[in-house]
Amino acid sequence: MIFYQLLDESTSTFTYLLADTDSGETVLIDPVLEQTDRYLKLLSELNLKLGYVLDTHIHADHITAAGALRKKTGCNTGISAKANIACADLLLREGAILHFGPHVIRVLETPGHTRTCVSYLCEDMVFTGDALLIDGCGRTDFQDGDAGLLYDSVTQKLFALPDETRVFPAHDYHGRTDTSIGEQKRNNPRLRLNRDDFIRLMAEMSLPLPQRIRESVPANLACGEPHDG
Ligand code: FE
Repeated sequence: MIFYQLLDESTSTFTYLLADTDSGETVLIDPVLEQTDRYLKLLSELNLKLGYVLDTHIHADHITAAGALRKKTGCNTGISAKANIACADLLLREGAILHFGPHVIRVLETPGHTRTCVSYLCEDMVFTGDALLIDGCGRTDFQDGDAGLLYDSVTQKLFALPDETRVFPAHDYHGRTDTSIGEQKRNNPRLRLNRDDFIRLMAEMSLPLPQRIRESVPANLACGEPHDG
């Protein structure tokens, strides 16, 4: 498999490219609109065919490149069925399966950071969006966030994966790239708390709103389609 972890520096967002070596069938997870040309260049240089663009949730800090990439490549876009976005090609539910070449991606619903959060499991890798970050987790104070639900998603669903599963988050703000389920079970300072203490900690956090939330959320509800059509 061809695998790239790409960083959008302005929002510290990770985008993941997974491609089947033989057929060139490709999946992009959480692409950022401003990086669209970079993805298209990479696809063309590697002679890859973009099949799916998947978002882990309706992002509040950047606009998805899903719509722009669909326009350029004819790929299918996917997001949680709970997002109920009319423009998405695939509305994904727990257990949904996507194929690229012989590889399989399975959808795990992991709500809590937002109501629409899903994780994507592919072989020994899981792409957790903002549900599980490296030694942290996404905030739960907007977009129908729910700390109790997040705790359950991580501890019951993600932590049920094998310890050696590699965890690739949507963001890291400290220059790290990935972790593992085992490492996070042992070391994640938030998720090691009991449920009540976790909910209390999340309620006590007082964070400024993401800078681009007012433009990002409405744009992402429209698949990030550029206004110029
Ligand atoms: Fe988020």
